[in-house]
Amino acid sequence: MGRRADSFDLNRLRMTAGEARRLELEVAVDALSLGADSYRVGPEPLVVRLEVVRTTNGYALRLRFSATVSGPCMRCLGPATPGFEVDVYEVSQPQDGEQLDSPYLDAGVLDLGAWTRDALVLSLPAAIICRDECAGLCAVCGADLASAGPDHAHAASPDPRWAKLAELRLG
Ligand SMILES: [Zn+2]
Ligand SMILES: [Zn+2]
Repeated sequence: MGRRADSFDLNRLRMTAGEARRLELEVAVDALSLGADSYRVGPEPLVVRLEVVRTTNGYALRLRFSATVSGPCMRCLGPATPGFEVDVYEVSQPQDGEQLDSPYLDAGVLDLGAWTRDALVLSLPAAIICRDECAGLCAVCGADLASAGPDHAHAASPDPRWAKLAELRLG
């Protein structure tokens, strides 16, 4: 696990400037730690589409893939496996300045594992949820609010200490 096409040597494509290639590669992505929980990335292995354009001074790359992230819903704690479409670009022309020096490409060797993982993490929403309409849990009783329905409510119950005071006053 975790070894497959984690790095890919673009040099072996022997491309000349202006040439373009499309590749399908398999990448193993380790589980992501989000908040206090661990989220599995699927499918395993992840199939990514890599487009490589050889430029005069380097490479222009496009990475696309569909991935699922599995773990506890951050609202209701039930199982969640939302899917995400990732489509990112990277240019590596280190001679043309630091801004064009990709952190994922070193001497033509692409760190596909790190790029895939970072691109996925950056495309995740703030909260991993089981479904868009997940309403979370009732703060009072812990019921799943989506299945409990819109009428779910609790009578405002006074703090037990106040109840004691009220008893004293009445008595
Ligand atoms: Zn949920
Ligand atoms: Zn409740």
